[in-house]
Amino acid sequence: MFKAAIIDLDGVVWLGSKPIESNIEFITRAMESGVDVVFLTNNSTRSRRVYSARLRSLGIEVDESRIINSGYSAAKWLLERFGECRVYPVGEEGLVEELVLAGHTVVTASDAPRYADAVVVGLDRGLTYGKLRAAVRAILNGATFIATNLDHVIPVADGVDPGAGAIVSAIERATSRSIDFDAGKPGGWIMDLAFRALGNPPRDGVVVIGDRIDTDVEMARRYGVRSILVLTGLTRAEDLKNIGDRLTNTTVVRDLSELRI
Ligand SMILES: [Mg+2]
Repeated sequence: MFKAAIIDLDGVVWLGSKPIESNIEFITRAMESGVDVVFLTNNSTRSRRVYSARLRSLGIEVDESRIINSGYSAAKWLLERFGECRVYPVGEEGLVEELVLAGHTVVTASDAPRYADAVVVGLDRGLTYGKLRAAVRAILNGATFIATNLDHVIPVADGVDPGAGAIVSAIERATSRSIDFDAGKPGGWIMDLAFRALGNPPRDGVVVIGDRIDTDVEMARRYGVRSILVLTGLTRAEDLKNIGDRLTNTTVVRDLSELRI
């Protein structure tokens, strides 16, 4: 069994606006029996404060210090690397909130090309040509180019939607530049933040629970911790053929009700 769990949100706790009851029930039981839990998501559209409230409404009581999203991860990386910055965000409210809470100044699209020290790109369902232009011009003028994550798609209740990685690619193409930093899964930085939130426990007592092989399972593999892949989100049973040794330290379950606590 495990002492601590790093749990994904999209595809594990909910699909779009739909809660995944079987998984929620397991998570609640695990927390009641003393498993230390941190939630870790590549989704930057909502702030940790909002995720905390949403989890509470589903019966999962968790402080926002136990929630790490990729917007917080990007804001924290910028702060520890460069101090407080002027940032142009391509993203939604949640990303802006995390940047401001970390002490950064958010600049407008018209100021971005001249004043932005960094451009942080996350999922933005209100993306416009003007936002792309501001980001591209700021980067061409020397701003640091940060991705909150490179997910190509995100699972939603009726299929998949384009992810932050699709927006990052558009900006990389226009600038002929690659990102300077990826703040999301499967990178090590966001995992470092999750471990910090857990108080840096020994790795063999920690498990990552997620619905994606390219992010959750891959991050756990790189970090040397076990993972549990749930088939309630993006990954389907048929995707598990021909993936070689990527699932060596991974338990695959249809949903978390298959696990005992
Ligand atoms: Mg997920």
